[in-house]
Amino acid sequence: MQNRQTNQVFNLDKFPNFEKDIDLKQRAWIEVKGKAIEKNVRQLRSKLIKNCQFMAVVKADGYGHDAKVVSEYAIKGGASELGVATLKEGIKLRSFGVKKPILILGNLYTKRDLIISFKNDLMPTISTLRECLVCNNIGKHFGMKFSLHLKVDTGMSRLGFESNKFVQQFEKIKSFENISIKGIYSHLSSADEDKAIDSQSITQLQRLKFNKLLKQINVDSRNQIKIHLANSAGMLLSKDFHFHMVRVGLSMYGYSPLAKIDKNLLLKPALSLKVKVAFIRTIDEGVSVSYGGKFVSSRKTKLAVLSIGYADGVPRNLSGKINVIYKNKFYPQVGSITMDQMMVDITDSNEIKVGSTMLLLGSDGDKTISPLEWARKSNTIPWEILCSFKNRLPKVQVD
Ligand SMILES: *Cc1c(COP(=O)(O)O)cnc(C)c1O
Repeated sequence: MQNRQTNQVFNLDKFPNFEKDIDLKQRAWIEVKGKAIEKNVRQLRSKLIKNCQFMAVVKADGYGHDAKVVSEYAIKGGASELGVATLKEGIKLRSFGVKKPILILGNLYTKRDLIISFKNDLMPTISTLRECLVCNNIGKHFGMKFSLHLKVDTGMSRLGFESNKFVQQFEKIKSFENISIKGIYSHLSSADEDKAIDSQSITQLQRLKFNKLLKQINVDSRNQIKIHLANSAGMLLSKDFHFHMVRVGLSMYGYSPLAKIDKNLLLKPALSLKVKVAFIRTIDEGVSVSYGGKFVSSRKTKLAVLSIGYADGVPRNLSGKINVIYKNKFYPQVGSITMDQMMVDITDSNEIKVGSTMLLLGSDGDKTISPLEWARKSNTIPWEILCSFKNRLPKVQVD
């Protein structure tokens, strides 16, 4: 037989779409249920005070879910605004055809970035008088008003005007003719730590401070300025945090940030993480598995090699601590999680084959593995788990 010549048999130039032609479910992938997002938004909105609006926070590619899908279904569920972290994320949403108001939650400080924001109809978050002046000049240059939100710091010590100077600076800002203040907001630092008494009082103090400032600058609904303070946790803690709008991320994706769970709130996780079995081998008793040989088999063991690793966003420090689901049954992951693969003990299964699909996150039958569990086991927070998933994992919408 002749040797195959790669360039003859599989000339990639002839397959300009070869990446698209590879099955999205070839290795490991994220499945997203848009309808779950829509339902969660509807349900969360039903808990809001009258006329309170819902901003869907879709930063970090919609918390790893795909910002395009999330935005579409959040809007179907009644979200009236969207929140992103960066200029690029905002421009991307506009390129998808999103028409709703978009607030950039991060800070833009160069004239160039503020112009780009203006031209793409994105609202920046403004934390200084200088940025306000730049926006006013941009508005003047284009003969228009530049829409933006002002942020005031009430205890997070991140972005925002200093609270003790805000009232005075607001007087100046009010006189700027080429800006339109669409919102005034602040951010809670500790609302999700609802078990700790300290953090509860921090959260209440932030609310009181915010209310006091609002009273001093004398804005109310007639000014058409939206007042907002709550993230998911703040929104769920109490209606006192609702004001004119809430900015909701985590709970819209189906996870409550609070330890104390409201029994009437049935959030539905929108994401599943699935992976193919790429190889199966059987090892004898007393054989070590993966880097460092930290796992040694205590019996003859059948191993499935799964095509997913820490380069896909599975935290390496979950090694040996998680299960994987196949047909409503748990199988333990064993040995160190490697960059691109991990091993699972499937000795007890006769069904799992090369090419079978196993479930790392999500539900199958009565078995569920949640990012909340991964977060606890890897000593981090669910937000970090969700936005660690890398581009290498295709996102597939399943409804
Ligand atoms: C990310 C973010 C939110 C959403 O927070 P969740 O806890 O995910 O609901 C709200 N506001 C700001 C300013 C944020 O950066």
